[in-house]
Amino acid sequence: MSKLSIRDLDLKNKTVFIRVDFNVPLAPGGQEITSDKRIRASLPNIQYALDHGAAVVLASHLGRPKGKPNPEMSLKPVAKRLGELLGRDVRMAPDCVGPEVEQLRPAPGGVLLLENLRFHPGEEKNDPAFSKQLASLCDVYVNDAFGSAHRAHASTVGMIQFVKQAAAGLLMDKELEYLNKATKNPARPCIAILGGAKVSDKIEVIENLMKFVDQILIGGAMAYTFLKARGEPVGKSLVEDDKLDLARVLMARAGGKLLLPTDHVVTAELKEGADHRVVTKIPDGMLAVDIGPATIEDYSAVVGKAKTIIWNGPMGVFEKPPFDRGTVALAKAVAASGAVSVVGGGDSEKAVKSAGVADKISHISTGGGASLEFLAGIELPGVAALTEK
Ligand code: AMP
Repeated sequence: MSKLSIRDLDLKNKTVFIRVDFNVPLAPGGQEITSDKRIRASLPNIQYALDHGAAVVLASHLGRPKGKPNPEMSLKPVAKRLGELLGRDVRMAPDCVGPEVEQLRPAPGGVLLLENLRFHPGEEKNDPAFSKQLASLCDVYVNDAFGSAHRAHASTVGMIQFVKQAAAGLLMDKELEYLNKATKNPARPCIAILGGAKVSDKIEVIENLMKFVDQILIGGAMAYTFLKARGEPVGKSLVEDDKLDLARVLMARAGGKLLLPTDHVVTAELKEGADHRVVTKIPDGMLAVDIGPATIEDYSAVVGKAKTIIWNGPMGVFEKPPFDRGTVALAKAVAASGAVSVVGGGDSEKAVKSAGVADKISHISTGGGASLEFLAGIELPGVAALTEK
């Protein structure tokens, strides 16, 4: 099933409501944006709408104001930055709904940014009356906020029943294109690399990936829950003891598909530059903080043959060098593989960036939670609600 794209819409002289992801990090006080990455990522879609003769109404949430106005989570600084980046005036609305906002509906070529959607409880409650008010601001609807597509809120789902057409924006389109490419009939071998802190966060992902990938390479702390479940010593490594049975079930179901590290970097204390060594059996009192060189070699060989790679989660405590070696080595192997590669989640993105290979990855997802739900085979409500082609 394919969804309408902004490219399919007639935008001339129409007011388009674009749900964007302007959930940017702010310095304490809420005046200064510390990274404008998300604003920049939304520019091509906004520019597309303007170039095609639309009036643009933008809406986003920022932080967790819990249904009440909070000046520290205002989108005002975003309007300013967006104006600079677009090179045109961006009008800031005092609210996201109501008569005062309706008065501000822009003319074609104009851009209006609504105030934080979550200042109203109706947003997260997906309230029909609030949804209707949002929809009354536009002729057509576009969702470009992939990072919020796993939430059924008024601006991502509710308002769609009150608009004639609802399409995916350019960024959303790209997310769906690559995630679909990697999961539906992928080029083979198709492999997944999973790491990070917990098995429990990624159970559904592992279960779903097992259905279609050829191999799953496990790293990060989650490997030690699997190794302990297999009866191997794990010392003081981070383990989810209440997930050992589940780990056994997953391993039995995966058969030979699930690969675990065969050597480890261990240390007595988790701090940057701490004394460490490589072992094949984790000694008592030590914790494993990265995959070892033999595992790097084995995993890199699998990566080198792959045609499709899905990656989520670091192979070790990559924030504390030298325990970033496994993650950096795999990032380089993925980059060199020539495979279609889809990387998801904030930590995985940081890892490919710190390895200096971000530009060689086919697609870095902008939505951690949403991409995990997609990989877990869960239909994203914000995508399901869009108009069919
Ligand atoms: P996640 O958000 O689940 O992708 O987990 C990312 C976090 O997992 C990072 O902060 C890593 O430091 C952490 N991590 C990865 N490997 C290990 C490990 N062997 N021991 C402890 N934490 C780890």
